[in-house]
Amino acid sequence: MTDATLVLNAGSSSLKFAMFERRHGLPLLVKGSISSLHDKPRLKVSTAHDEPRTEMTLGKGSIDSQATLEFILRDIGERGLPQKITNVGHRIVHGGSRFTAPAILDRSTLKALDQLVPLAPIHQSRNLEIVELVAGVLPEAVQVGCFDTAFHADRPHVAMLYGLPRALTESGVISFGFHGISYGYVASKLKARYGSNAGGRATVAHLGSGASLCAMREGKSLATTMGFSPLDGLVMSTRCGSLDPGVVIHLLRDRKMSVEGLSKLLYDQSGLLGVSGISGDMRTLLETDDPAATEAIDLFVYRAGREIGSLAAAAGGLDTLVFTAGIGENSPFIREKICQAAGWLGVQVDPERNRRSEACISVSGSAVDVLVIPTDEERAVAEQMLSIIPIADNHSG
Ligand code: AMP
Repeated sequence: MTDATLVLNAGSSSLKFAMFERRHGLPLLVKGSISSLHDKPRLKVSTAHDEPRTEMTLGKGSIDSQATLEFILRDIGERGLPQKITNVGHRIVHGGSRFTAPAILDRSTLKALDQLVPLAPIHQSRNLEIVELVAGVLPEAVQVGCFDTAFHADRPHVAMLYGLPRALTESGVISFGFHGISYGYVASKLKARYGSNAGGRATVAHLGSGASLCAMREGKSLATTMGFSPLDGLVMSTRCGSLDPGVVIHLLRDRKMSVEGLSKLLYDQSGLLGVSGISGDMRTLLETDDPAATEAIDLFVYRAGREIGSLAAAAGGLDTLVFTAGIGENSPFIREKICQAAGWLGVQVDPERNRRSEACISVSGSAVDVLVIPTDEERAVAEQMLSIIPIADNHSG
């Protein structure tokens, strides 16, 4: 039996996974997801050759992390693959100031990561719960964490500061930034396309259920829209994005909201869902002509357009604009609207290229290259893991 790496990517409402053979190039063996964990969960699995493909609904209610993991491991087991899972990589949302590179998830690391749960309550606790469950079912596998915050750790210091008293900054109240595994993957694709310049002053729009933008120069993070927590920045599926802190004070003091209630409001009941009152799913909103859905979409586009301007200011211009993640990769309509809002920066989209979601969707000779780059966080995690668990020489062929 040869070795394999299993990557688990736990989001707030889905668990994506992929299994790679541990040899040069990390060939994909199987990948899939369990989505809609809280309501009629769905398992989707495909292999590198797309055969056999599994797609099924896993009951009517919700599904917990243990059952989710069991379904995934059972599906993988039933495929009779000749590879054995010897290590498991996790996308961990928060590494704080300390974890800026992949780390083996031993007891002391897990304890340190547990202390970051209040900074990303939904994601971090689920990430750590899944690490514990894996330790129970695959006790011999080495587990490695790769951190969404790490890509942003080298930003200019000023980009991490809030206008708060120094003591708070020094005790860790700073902007961390997120979606860094996706941004790192996109940066590697930009380097493959442009060489070390990586598209120069590039803004990457990671537009999925969680959404953020990152301004890069030569593939390194300069500024990003998420900050201390994954609540900041763009309007998201159910998260509010940037909010005047005065609103928070008002809700706590005058509307007597509890801290728990406020957290639920801002993480789970706001964003596209809150504004539309219909759904946090962009595809669903695009399919209805309810004015509240239209308003939610308009706000999503408006905020993305404004922030692209802000990030271009931080980078001193814009050479390349990249769309990625569920909405960025799949919605020509949203891409077109956002590009219109960024037209003043020289962004010009070719409607046909955009409709076909080509790799480059800008008009020929455009001042700004506009690209669609599908992200692959699972592969990015597997690649990052090689820095601490390299492939043995006899497996490199
Ligand atoms: P992600 O979190 O990257 O899986 O992205 C999920 C988001 O992508 C959801 O809001 C989906 O509705 C959205 N999405 C996926 N496909 C499409 C599509 N064809 N058009 C618009 N939005 C889409």
